[in-house]
Amino acid sequence: MDLIKKDFLFQDIRKLRGIGSQLSKYLKKRKIEKIKDIILNLPYSETDRSKISNLNELEIGKIQTIKVNVKRLNFPRIRNLPNRIICRDDTGEIDIVYFNSREGYLRKIFPLGKWIIVSGKVNFFKKKYQITNPDYVTTIDNQEYVLKNIPKYNLTKGINEKKYRSISEQVTQNLPNIDDWLSENFIKENKLLNWNETIKKLHNTDESRNLKSESFRRLVFDEICANFLTLSKNRKRIKKTKKVKKFNNTYAEKVLLNLPFNLTFDQKKVLNEINSDLKNSDRMFRILQGDVGSGKTIVSLLSIANVIEAGYQCALMGPTEILSRQHYEQAKQIFKNMNINVEFLSGKTDSKIRKKILDNLIKGKTKLLIGTHALFQKKIIFKNLGYVVIDEQHKFGVKQRSELASKGGKNCDVLLMSATPIPRTMMMSIYGDMDISKITNKPSNRKKIITLSKPEKKINELWPFIEKQIKEDNQIFWVCPLIKESKFLDYSSAKKRYDMIKKKFSNKVGLIHGSLEKGEKEDVLKSFLNKKIHILVSTTVIEVGIDFPNASLIIIENANKFGLAQLHQLRGRVGRGSKQGTCVLLFKESLSQNAIKRLKILKNSNDGFYIADEDLKLRGFGDLTGYQQSGMKIFRFADPVLHNDLFKLAEEFIFSINNDVDINKYNFLLKLFDKADIINIGEV
Ligand code: ADP
Ligand code: MG
Repeated sequence: MDLIKKDFLFQDIRKLRGIGSQLSKYLKKRKIEKIKDIILNLPYSETDRSKISNLNELEIGKIQTIKVNVKRLNFPRIRNLPNRIICRDDTGEIDIVYFNSREGYLRKIFPLGKWIIVSGKVNFFKKKYQITNPDYVTTIDNQEYVLKNIPKYNLTKGINEKKYRSISEQVTQNLPNIDDWLSENFIKENKLLNWNETIKKLHNTDESRNLKSESFRRLVFDEICANFLTLSKNRKRIKKTKKVKKFNNTYAEKVLLNLPFNLTFDQKKVLNEINSDLKNSDRMFRILQGDVGSGKTIVSLLSIANVIEAGYQCALMGPTEILSRQHYEQAKQIFKNMNINVEFLSGKTDSKIRKKILDNLIKGKTKLLIGTHALFQKKIIFKNLGYVVIDEQHKFGVKQRSELASKGGKNCDVLLMSATPIPRTMMMSIYGDMDISKITNKPSNRKKIITLSKPEKKINELWPFIEKQIKEDNQIFWVCPLIKESKFLDYSSAKKRYDMIKKKFSNKVGLIHGSLEKGEKEDVLKSFLNKKIHILVSTTVIEVGIDFPNASLIIIENANKFGLAQLHQLRGRVGRGSKQGTCVLLFKESLSQNAIKRLKILKNSNDGFYIADEDLKLRGFGDLTGYQQSGMKIFRFADPVLHNDLFKLAEEFIFSINNDVDINKYNFLLKLFDKADIINIGEV
């Protein structure tokens, strides 16, 4: 086998000796498909088989290595009785036991009267030591193969260790000599290692378990670089030229004139950034980040007004029916008397109406189409779509983003909006291929939300406060936590709370939970919006983005079950109008030191970006449930907290090589981390 070529690493694992279709299926299930995946499957521990133990000093239950002489082989002809090989050394006797092994094979590896090495777990049966199905049996000449620390891999549960070792050693001991894409200087300066040495160390020492070791850090650096490089290549691909859009803010100024408020400094700044992108001959691919309630919608609508003025159609997509409808109502309101045709489309739109909408769209009569994912079905054809705005879409991956950019055709600009605050370290990995606009200050009419914490025992103190809120015609969210990954358990705890509150406030209470159909959920939300109910008890997170200007109080039960960033988002549901918002966090038990620290951060700050950073520091990445839920677990090895410095280094590095003539030398890196496909998806 030609192991020298580096292409070897990207071939199917079946190319290796000893892997048939059965085994390859099994490995595939564990995401080991190509030979290089074996390199990335790091050992989680190792077994010390280096010491030869005398038979009179064996410890029961431990994996040990012995050197013994084969005395007798016993092959009973009765079914279900195991084969037994009796061995000795100078200090005692042991049975090596096999179920289901062929006689011929055993006679070969246990030659009578010869000394051999056996390694395996020792147990005690009928007053005698024995090793059942030992991991290794070998001749004395070959003892070096066993007498050492042998790495343990996770999948040895399904394949025996010896088998997997024979496979992985074919790779790790025959690594092709690749030209490192990092220079020797760079490696030295940053205390990394060269690639070949890195892989050897990771598989043959305990460095794979030390996340700060040189070899592990090198692997992490490579992983981050592969990620960043993909984004920057992707960005180059997306950034294609388009027809510039010409407008004089005529529509936008009309809209502004009729608004009951002035734009904030940041809103203006961000709108300018978007406008100059629209006027530019590069296609826009921008993310607008702004905390909940920072007023992103109006910014997007103003830029939409400009694109309409420039003679193009626009699409505004929201994640849910109710949120999109809210956008629709707002758009209709601000564009009324301006002769701009705005339509709404969702999966639920009646087929007759739908037909009419599609007709208007293709004729170019409809200028702005607002709706849910339904907007991007194949059958929906615009006459001249020039701008797509997508709200609350932090769930898109690199691949989807790229596809999205191609959706609208050559002249289409794209704006994404998100309220999920991203810690700074993660910015580049998540949004690296987009330009970023940020709104950091909120409209000045907002009062700071008061955040309180309370032990659940004192829940009774809340009732008078709630009563007062209802009297003032304010509305209340009551959030019950996710208890388990079970809709039923969540439901039952929320239902209990709902019943309890309903007893006190009769018909003013509503309940929303995960087992409701989408339509039913929206009905409940609507009756809350229309103030038919005053208290809304809900299980998980309340729909993102929906504007309930009348909600002034949110109560969050078992608050330590949520991440800080999540709590901040929930808190942002209230205090959106001019009313004072209050957030009450209920806790079941007394708080840990860490919980107290986190609470303090939340109480003292209203800045989602700051909170996300602090949250990351306190929790560590492994625990960032909020991000993982939204698909943001991006790295297999890199930890944004622990390897913070490497993220920075990678950013600088990618920047420095961006115009590298020999950019192809990084292809190996991209392929290693499965990024090559992402870069090759259909031309935009
Ligand atoms: P988000 O950024 O969370 O999407 P929205 O766009 O829903 O926020 O805005 C929240 C509320 O703030 C809306 O009711 C909106 O009309 C209002 N708003 C937006 N900009 C301003 C402003 N400059 N001054 C006062 N209120 C504003
Ligand atoms: Mg919004």
